[in-house]
Amino acid sequence: MNIQSFEILARAALSFDLRVGDKIKIISPHGHQVADFFAFNASNPAEYLSARHTLVSSTRHLYPRAGQIFLTSLRRPILKFVEDGANEQHEMLLAACDPARYQLLGVEGHHASCAENLQVVMAARGILVTEIPQPLNLFSSTRAEPDGTIITHPNSSQPGDYCIFQMLRDCIVVVSACPFDVETQFPVNVGGPHGLEVSVGKI
Ligand SMILES: [Zn+2]
Repeated sequence: MNIQSFEILARAALSFDLRVGDKIKIISPHGHQVADFFAFNASNPAEYLSARHTLVSSTRHLYPRAGQIFLTSLRRPILKFVEDGANEQHEMLLAACDPARYQLLGVEGHHASCAENLQVVMAARGILVTEIPQPLNLFSSTRAEPDGTIITHPNSSQPGDYCIFQMLRDCIVVVSACPFDVETQFPVNVGGPHGLEVSVGKI
């Protein structure tokens, strides 16, 4: 596959068909913007990239780091984090934002969310996602403190930060530009939300 480039609009998501060996590069042109990253086995979407299985059986680490191999819900390798151009500003602690989260935060009416974004782009493929996998939260400054407290620090990722993953099997990858904008309480996306850029192929 030649390299193809895409723009993900603020608050929106795109899905990508990637073959084993292909790479995907997620770029944050504005900085300070979280990307929720999901991956599914292309031939069986019920099998998905699982943060929890990965940290038990592969990485033994709370955070995504370059060189790590991520596993599926069946503990099989699905992709590798091959290059981190974002100074390790990633986590997989927080569930994807969803309509209930915004309701709890006092938002009235509809609010775009990463969970809904995932469901919409997968539904367009005829795939019903009822359980939202734990995403890799790329470009996120949320951290667990030594005492176990989870703190969402102001998003310190920088313009041009990027991550590259390589597929270890054929995948459907979904990237959501997190729509979170309730910044007075949690500075998830500072000054945003913003869009993202994605390149796929033999990067
Ligand atoms: Zn989100």
